[in-house]
Amino acid sequence: MTVQQEALAGGEALEVWIDQDLCTGDGICAQYAPEVFELDIDGLAYVKGSDDELLLAKGATAPVPLPLLTDVVDSARECPGECIHVRRVADGVEVYGPDAE
Ligand code: SF4
Repeated sequence: MTVQQEALAGGEALEVWIDQDLCTGDGICAQYAPEVFELDIDGLAYVKGSDDELLLAKGATAPVPLPLLTDVVDSARECPGECIHVRRVADGVEVYGPDAE
């Protein structure tokens, strides 16, 4: 079973972060999952906290709500900067994104 299948089958808690150093600012992620991603005035994408505030700290993570998992995964797959990382909260293993197996 792949880490992706494990994560889905187990309903494991996932979190997402963006490497802004690689973000192209095209906004694909914010189109796919506006509940999770948003562009700031600097033109780069950030994840949002539970209060809808952008999390501007480097490497900041936001939880991935299960109903939005498909949208977040599509964002990671389509991200031209390859800078959206989805990982398991429990052990930090990347499940979707450039560093996933
Ligand atoms: S899809 Fe990737 S490159 Fe495009 S704005 Fe979002 S994080 Fe940045």
